[in-house]
Amino acid sequence: MAYQDQVIDQVQSLSDIVEVISAYIPLKRAGRNFKANCPFHQEKTPSFMVNPEKQIFHCFGCGAGGDVFSFLMKYEQMSFPEALKQLAERARVTLPESSSFSPRERSQIERIYQIYAEASDFYHTHLKHPETGKAPRAYLAKRSFGTAEIDSFRIGFARSDWRTLCDHLSKKGFTEQELLRSGLILRSAQGTLYDLFRSRIIFPILNRQQKVVAFGGRVLGDEMPKYLNSPETPIFRKRREMYGLYLAVRAIAASEIRRILIVEGYLDCIRLHANGFQNTVATLGTALTSEHVQVLKRYADEATVVFDGDQAGEQASLRGLDIFLEEGMGVKVLCLPKGFDPDDFVRLKGAPAMTELLKQSQDIFDFKLQVLLSRYNKSDSLGLLKITSEFLDTFAKIKNPVLVDRYLKRLAVTLGVEEGSLRSELNKLKNKQGGYKMTEAKPKSAFQKAEKTEPKAERILLSLMLHHSPYVGMFLEAFPNYAFVGDQTREVFQWLNRMTQEAGEKEFSASRLLNRIKDENLKTFASELIMMDWDSEEDREQAFQDLIRRIRMQERSGQLQALRNQIAQAEEAGDQALLLEYMKAYQTLLSQVEQ
Ligand SMILES: [Zn+2]
Repeated sequence: MAYQDQVIDQVQSLSDIVEVISAYIPLKRAGRNFKANCPFHQEKTPSFMVNPEKQIFHCFGCGAGGDVFSFLMKYEQMSFPEALKQLAERARVTLPESSSFSPRERSQIERIYQIYAEASDFYHTHLKHPETGKAPRAYLAKRSFGTAEIDSFRIGFARSDWRTLCDHLSKKGFTEQELLRSGLILRSAQGTLYDLFRSRIIFPILNRQQKVVAFGGRVLGDEMPKYLNSPETPIFRKRREMYGLYLAVRAIAASEIRRILIVEGYLDCIRLHANGFQNTVATLGTALTSEHVQVLKRYADEATVVFDGDQAGEQASLRGLDIFLEEGMGVKVLCLPKGFDPDDFVRLKGAPAMTELLKQSQDIFDFKLQVLLSRYNKSDSLGLLKITSEFLDTFAKIKNPVLVDRYLKRLAVTLGVEEGSLRSELNKLKNKQGGYKMTEAKPKSAFQKAEKTEPKAERILLSLMLHHSPYVGMFLEAFPNYAFVGDQTREVFQWLNRMTQEAGEKEFSASRLLNRIKDENLKTFASELIMMDWDSEEDREQAFQDLIRRIRMQERSGQLQALRNQIAQAEEAGDQALLLEYMKAYQTLLSQVEQ
């Protein structure tokens, strides 16, 4: 076994799949398994199972399945080395140096992380400092942010000097090149280095592994730009990251309701967290992107976008909301009363008022309707045209046909136009856009897909061997040259054979087999086989013996058929000696079958 495989096995044995998965989604005990609504497809009744004995998960709805590594790879959209790294860190296992990055890139990336961690501590210390931090603390206090918020969000302060961070990091041994690569230190036209952030309150942006990957900086007064973000680096993609996400993910995992609140500002986000709305994230001063929504969709079923009570928010938001529909995520909109941002509202009106307001969140349809009706006059034909075309654009992006149907009906009633004509306009639009079909195919399980190519008997046989590895030896003894008909069953059997040999006397672990298989389809297929349940040892034994008998019979009937052909040929050729020999063999075989 390769060294790499040993480490992988070690990490896996220290990463309990139930513990790992329940950090993301709530799992409920169901007999031998744990179940949940599947995070990989939309469903109302749970068909996602986690089996603690076998250390695997499997969804009977969409066929997703695998071991603890597969789960992270799918859920966090990680590569295998990334998933391995994360689980190794969690289990405190040191990995050998090798991953998708070259050692050189790897150490560069590691250095950037170190710079951000160091800078974060540096800024935080300055905000806490009795003298240096006085003004920014006073500013925060005026807005009712105190020590609790400063500490839990590690808020910091960048002094007004040009080179404080630069000098500090140089002293810590970071090279000029490393500092420039981090984006926190810039070089002037004269060639001198200086700090990006000066006289700003600093909000560290943490990724889901809780590492600082970027900063947002806010001025104390009203100078522009009010907010400044650190640039994109190898560790920071602003199209993916959101402020407070790692905390929100944790809160949603612990809650029954998979809903996420989206606000614009750092302080809005902190205020909401401090008042019990820990499922809040803030966008980083950029418009929401489809990548953001893809990330959010993994943790929540529905998003509520919270807007300030001014018109500007509404105008900007209409397009942005369509991204949720395109990505198939439920979205609601909450417009705060005029003159309020989320921070003001919760501070002045209190958390219960916010809870009440959230209940009044509007469906995206109603929100859009309200905005468009205030913008255009539906009783003049040009206005009507504008409103319908805006809506149809949105509808064309909605992937759920039932929802489109409902919205079309409501739009027709509201505008006083015929539903049929709206529908035909929509179809025209969709055809023009290279249209997708109104009906979406139901996800098929790996088994249904495999039904044709992988014979049932072979699947059951493999499932039995995966449950009880001594069957592998027994099977090989009975049929040393058995040829599997199915490609997938053959391949899984090869793995199984290899791994039982490796395990020797010990029972091998099925989940370990899964992490050796690199092909995702094959992995899914194997995980479904492992999930097949046998009520008792007797049932299992009975099924195994039945299969052995069946295969033996199949083999013999194949042999009998071959002999019949040979007999026919010998007869035709008039070879009496050969004919007699075949007849004898035929008789012998026949009597064995009858036993
Ligand atoms: Zn599923």
